[in-house]
Amino acid sequence: MAEKLLVSGSIAYDCIETPLDKADYILGGSASYASLASSYFAPTLISGIVGNDFKESDVKRLTARAIDISNIKFEQSKPTFFWRGKYHDNFNSRETLDVQVNVYEDYKPELNAEARSAKYVLLGNISPVVQTAVLDMIESPKFVIVDTMDLWINIERQALEAIVKRADLLILNDSEAKLFSGERNIICAGKKLMGFGAKSVIIKTGEYGAMLFHKDGFFVVPAFPIESLHDPTGAGDSFAGALAGYLAGCDDTSFEAIRKGMVVASATASMTVESFSCYKLEENGLDEINRRRDYIKKISCSD
Ligand code: AMP
Repeated sequence: MAEKLLVSGSIAYDCIETPLDKADYILGGSASYASLASSYFAPTLISGIVGNDFKESDVKRLTARAIDISNIKFEQSKPTFFWRGKYHDNFNSRETLDVQVNVYEDYKPELNAEARSAKYVLLGNISPVVQTAVLDMIESPKFVIVDTMDLWINIERQALEAIVKRADLLILNDSEAKLFSGERNIICAGKKLMGFGAKSVIIKTGEYGAMLFHKDGFFVVPAFPIESLHDPTGAGDSFAGALAGYLAGCDDTSFEAIRKGMVVASATASMTVESFSCYKLEENGLDEINRRRDYIKKISCSD
């Protein structure tokens, strides 16, 4: 039977400029991307905080996917977390032009009884101090996924190392894995990160896919081949969300389930990057995710 998934992290407004297009004040943040993705696979609860500028239409985008929003705090004294980013060189590099943490500045997460009883928890990218506060409230977590970014590796390393020790799965991208581990080679980075205490590690390699380091084996999933990259923002968050949702949806945390979940996650993330925010994912939904999942399976195995 499907278990519920609690997703925490940032809920943000993003202003994004790519070589092709730009968009202002669109729904972003690690928890938004991840919960929209996970909602296709498991009952999803989102936890975070939004401010006085948060639009009713964005509340509706979450509730339209049946995401439980009762653990979002609506704070009237400040605006929502804000991020402005710009992609250069045909999407090869990204620059953060502005970050305003706003409502997240003094945020002390609170969870209701439903959220505290979640067995599956995705601690999406946000300060490891907030991630720890959320995890401390969960009564008996079965599978905990921790996502992070270079900022926290640089400025909150101690708190990050402590939460990683409590994780069943640590997810990060290749440059973050190298930064966190101090290794130059990605395989060495994965192996070293396994020694940091998480039971398994996924390193995302962008357009090349992702690799899993696990006590029962090693696995690589390719990215779904797309020609219509529009905005890479949130690809990693939706990968993590879809994987977490898949595991909660089948209530299976085995190596085999994580492998299958990674194929689904790769398919889901490929839809996120074909539009700003999650519009394309929300428009095309599960049928297209499943079609892409089958195609990834077809192209990545010869028998
Ligand atoms: P990604 O493309 O996976 O790095 O995720 C991009 C999302 O992360 C954007 O929607 C931003 O709003 C959000 N974001 C940017 N900086 C931070 C931060 N320091 N903490 C949490 N979320 C952030």
